[in-house]
Amino acid sequence: MGGTVGKPEKLIVNGKRLDGRKLDELRPIKIKAGIIPNADGSALIEQGETRIMCAVYGPRECLPKHLSEADRAYLNCVYTMVSFSTPERARPGPSRRSVEISKVIKDCLSPAIFLERYPRTKIDVYMDVTNANAGTRCAAICAAAVALADAGIDMRDLVTAVASGKADGHLVLDMFELEDNYGEADMPLAMMPRTSEITLLQMDGELDKTEIKKLIEMNIKACREIYELQKSALREKYESEKNIESEEGEQNGTGN
Ligand code: ADP
Repeated sequence: MGGTVGKPEKLIVNGKRLDGRKLDELRPIKIKAGIIPNADGSALIEQGETRIMCAVYGPRECLPKHLSEADRAYLNCVYTMVSFSTPERARPGPSRRSVEISKVIKDCLSPAIFLERYPRTKIDVYMDVTNANAGTRCAAICAAAVALADAGIDMRDLVTAVASGKADGHLVLDMFELEDNYGEADMPLAMMPRTSEITLLQMDGELDKTEIKKLIEMNIKACREIYELQKSALREKYESEKNIESEEGEQNGTGN
């Protein structure tokens, strides 16, 4: 799978990665809440060159009706890679991979949402990858959690995720495309940082017990960093809304 760039001779040179990062360094991450006016909640995440938009609709009437659950909301998660997200045009429509990723994301977000507070309704979470450069399921989870909170849906906590793995025999945090394609293993992890509950843990490749333990620790530490960015994105949006409201209040003579 992957891009147009061929296999490099080495992935780690003098203790540094090919994109200049240290082994335990995240890519630059930007998160913005409320970027889609037509959705009830939304978020954009840019993590290195990976870029994902997420839109949340609901809780709303559950259609088709047979999906409706008497004691909880039905959570519909749809992960899509848009056709221009990869160097070679990705075929539109669901694939085996996107269906699997949508399912693991649903399982990973469900424990964080008070679904039981919205019986017989549906919550739609659409995650569109507009540029794929590894770590897309994790970035999609981070954006989805912010978008759900932005939609005002009751949550126990945000969900935060990151993937690390092994490249050239070194454990590396937040792999980018070359490491993901030519490395030996990758391990995505998602958690609710407040309670430290892990809601997703996958592994692809070969790792021994000590490496697994180290990667889990590395991911957890990085999730705590990303969690702060998610919270700031929400704070930023609501603070700017508050400022607009108070400015409007002042203009109408109702401000204080
Ligand atoms: P994740 O994005 O969560 O790491 P995978 O491990 O399945 O998921 O995919 C790794 C990376 O491979 C993706 O992030 C993307 O950069 C690339 N990739 C996936 N599917 C394609 C595709 N159809 N064409 C080109 N690159 C792809």
